[in-house]
Amino acid sequence: MKCEFCRKRAGFLSRVCSVCAKVVAIVERTAGQVGLAQLVDIFAAEGLTREQVDQVLDAENGGRPTIRDRLTSNMVNTLMRGLGMPGRQSPGDVRRVRSAAASQQEAGTSRRSGDGFSERWRC
Ligand SMILES: [Zn+2]
Repeated sequence: MKCEFCRKRAGFLSRVCSVCAKVVAIVERTAGQVGLAQLVDIFAAEGLTREQVDQVLDAENGGRPTIRDRLTSNMVNTLMRGLGMPGRQSPGDVRRVRSAAASQQEAGTSRRSGDGFSERWRC
């Protein structure tokens, strides 16, 4: 079986390799209790590299929200509740906002490239 996060060999029966399993276990243990900055410290203390962690946090399995989306929605909701707001952003919402921002960025890039020399000469 291949690891569903990093696509390396995970073993005969496991869907996740030992490294990624460790990252997931830490995330679940600390879920909602620490911010991302503190999480990074914990990962480092466990001997995990940034790449190993990012692979797990940003893995998209079948269009489901990533672990990072879940963490972000957790944080946003905690923050909003702290400010006296309802804070009902779901991981799916975070994912939608993220992909919308990404496609907007792409559109912006293509607009800029279209606004080149030739366009200006025509005007
Ligand atoms: Zn893995």
